Amino acid sequence: MTELAGNYDVVCIGGAMTGSSAAYFLSENPDFDGSVLVVEPDWTYDRANTTRAQNSIREQFTNELNIRLSQFGMEFIADFRRRVEVDGHSPEINFRGTGYMFIADDEAAYEELERESHDQLALGAEVEMLRPAQIAERYPYMNPDELAGARVGGMREGSFDGWAFFQGLRQRAMGNGATYIKDRVTGLDVDGGRVTRVRLESGASVGCGFAINTAGCRARDVAAMAGLELPIEPRARTSFMFDCRTPIEHVVPLTVTPFGVHFRREQQHYMCGTVPTTDIAIDPDDFDIRHDEFEEQIWPVVAKYVPQFDQIGVVTSWGGQYDYNTLDHNLIIGPGSDVTNFLFANGFSGHGLQQGPAVGRGLSELITYGDFRTIDLSPLGYTRIERNEPIIENAII
Ligand SMILES: Cc1cc2nc3c(=O)[nH]c(=O)nc-3n(C[C@H](O)[C@H](O)[C@H](O)COP(=O)(O)OP(=O)(O)OC[C@H]3O[C@@H](n4cnc5c(N)ncnc54)[C@H](O)[C@@H]3O)c2cc1C
Repeated sequence: MTELAGNYDVVCIGGAMTGSSAAYFLSENPDFDGSVLVVEPDWTYDRANTTRAQNSIREQFTNELNIRLSQFGMEFIADFRRRVEVDGHSPEINFRGTGYMFIADDEAAYEELERESHDQLALGAEVEMLRPAQIAERYPYMNPDELAGARVGGMREGSFDGWAFFQGLRQRAMGNGATYIKDRVTGLDVDGGRVTRVRLESGASVGCGFAINTAGCRARDVAAMAGLELPIEPRARTSFMFDCRTPIEHVVPLTVTPFGVHFRREQQHYMCGTVPTTDIAIDPDDFDIRHDEFEEQIWPVVAKYVPQFDQIGVVTSWGGQYDYNTLDHNLIIGPGSDVTNFLFANGFSGHGLQQGPAVGRGLSELITYGDFRTIDLSPLGYTRIERNEPIIENAII
C-alpha cells in the first residue's frame, strides 16, 4: 500500500472506469503538472459496475452531447492500444463491430426512429433505416412479420472487453504517476465553499485542490459528505447469457426491442437484459440476480423477433446496478454550485463505459483550464439539477 503524502491536487473518490479515466486524462495532459490520488476500497472491483456491464458502445443517442461523448469513446477505442501502452505492453480490447439495431413495431415508432436519425446523420453517425424486407435480407434469422422496420448503426458500434478497457486506463494512469490507494472516503471537510480535506476509513486524511466524485452508485452518499443532494440511486439490472440450439451464422447487432429487452451476441452465446417490471431504488449492496426476468420478460420477447430463440437456455447470469439519475438518466458533470472544487462525474444510467474517455478528458480540461475545451459539457452540469430542468434523451436502454 502507498504511504500518503499531505496534499494532492486532485483526489478521485472511486477508482473504477470514471476515476481511472479522470486520472488517465489528467496525467496525460501536458498542461497539468499536479498530483492525482485515486481512493478505491475494492481492488478486485467485484462490486464496481464497471465490471458488471455489457460492454457496448453506440452513437445512436438522441441528444447531441451523448452522441459526441460516445463518438470520442469510439475514437479512443480505435486507437486504444497505443493510447494505453506502458513499457511496450497494452491490453487487447477485442472490439467487435456489429452495430446496434433499434426495432420499430409500428409505423409511428419507425417514423420517430427516422426523425432521430436525421440529427444523428448530421453529427456524422453511421445509421440507416431498414424496412422488413431489407432486414430479412441482411439478418435472415429475424422474423420480418413482427417488424415495421429498424434503425441500424455502422460497424463503429459494437462490443469490447470492458475489463481491458478500464485496466488499460488505470495502468497507464499509474504509469504516468497517479497514486492509487486502497481505502474508502468517509468524510469531506468543507470550508469557505471548498473541500479542503478528504477523510479516509483508515484514519488518514489528505488535503486536496479538487475532489472528484467518481463513486458510481454510491455517489449520492459521497455528495452528502459535502452537504450536496444528488438524485442518483442504484437500480437493479441483471445480465443473462444464453445458448441457442441452432447457431446464427450472421452478424447479430445489439438489438433493442420496444419492450425494453435487448440482446447481442457474445462469442458463441448471446447476452441480454431488460428493465425490471418494478424499477425502484435498491440497496447498494444488493447484487442479487432477478432470475424470473429471463422467463417472464426476456424469453417471450427474444423468441418473438428471432424464432430460433424459442429453444434457448441460460448459461450464466449476474447482478448489476445502474447509477440511475432520477431526473433525466444522463450524466452530471462538473462542480456542485455551493462547493466549487468538488466535481461530479455521476449518473450515467447505463452509459458510463462508453462515455468514460470523454468524461475523463472533460474533467481534466475543467481542472486544468477552468472550462471545457473539446466538447462543451456544461449543459450536463449540476445547475440543471437545481433548476429541475431535465436534458432529454429518448434512447435509454
Ligand atoms: C448491466 C449493466 C450493463 C451496462 N452496460 C453498459 C454498456 O454496454 N455500455 C456502457 O457504456 N455502460 C454500460 N453500463 C454502465 C457502466 O457500467 C457504468 O456507467 C460505469 O461502469 C460507471 O463507472 P464508474 O467508475 O462511474 O462507477 P463504478 O464502476 O460503479 O465504480 C465506482 C467505484 O467507486 C468506489 N467507491 C464507492 N464509494 C466509495 C468511497 N466512499 N470511497 C472510495 N471509493 C468508493 C467503488 O468501490 C467502485 O469501485 C452498464 C451497467 C450495468 C449494470
